Amino acid sequence: MQLRRAHGLVAVVTGFTLLLATGCGGKAPTAAPSPSASPSPSPSPSPSPSPSPSPSASPTPSKAPTTRPTTEKSYVLQRTSGSAGVALTFDDGPHPTWTPRVLDVLRARGVKATFCLVGTQVQAHPALVRRIVAEGHTLCNHSWNHEFKLGTWSEAKISSNMRATNNAIHAAAPGVPIRYFRHPGGNWTAAAVRVARSLGMSPLHWTVDPQDWRKPAASTITSRVVKGTRAGGVVLLHDAGGDRSQTLAALPGIIGGLRAKYQLIRLPDTF
Ligand SMILES: [Zn+2]
Repeated sequence: MQLRRAHGLVAVVTGFTLLLATGCGGKAPTAAPSPSASPSPSPSPSPSPSPSPSPSASPTPSKAPTTRPTTEKSYVLQRTSGSAGVALTFDDGPHPTWTPRVLDVLRARGVKATFCLVGTQVQAHPALVRRIVAEGHTLCNHSWNHEFKLGTWSEAKISSNMRATNNAIHAAAPGVPIRYFRHPGGNWTAAAVRVARSLGMSPLHWTVDPQDWRKPAASTITSRVVKGTRAGGVVLLHDAGGDRSQTLAALPGIIGGLRAKYQLIRLPDTF
């Protein structure tokens, strides 16, 4: 039932919004499983640090190559937690320096969150995956090697990339549910959304992006999140991809500020 409400709140996104995608500046520059993986260019972040409202439906055709370019012009992303609760999400890990510290803060405050994992990081740090799972957080697939252009690949290669990531996660934590996929950089395409869904993963976007990957001051990160969050929000943060000391320092303030108004939840594994 929650799913129905969640989908009622999601927005239809067109290819045009790809130009506005932000977030996920971090890279995990280790070997990719596919020889076709291209170097990851930096995304073009929005100049506005404030969370953007859900774009409205538009007939603007997508420029992204798909197998059905003449008929498929839009796709639907998950942009809410699915309930009134607010979901903290951490991308690009697990990282041996930052992920344990983030987990410590969450554990000390009794907060459950969602971690969007990169396959190469999972392969390098399987014990951290097990700790994330053991401490009750939700897992999300964030591609094998943070390929910003993953969604432009053939569906077979997209699927291979996503499955390799899930396989690495399951090698670390057998049987753990992986019900979400988040595209690197938010560079969604219809093909990426379709493949994620075919593998049982909801295409998880966000509602609040404090752009912590740009390393603003902790107080700025906290302020952007607390001021920008509404009920049902999904907050984008990073526990890897660079020096995350400011994100870590911002976390207690984020948790305290949000808890004054909302329940902090892990995204559900069943829907
Ligand atoms: Zn990312």
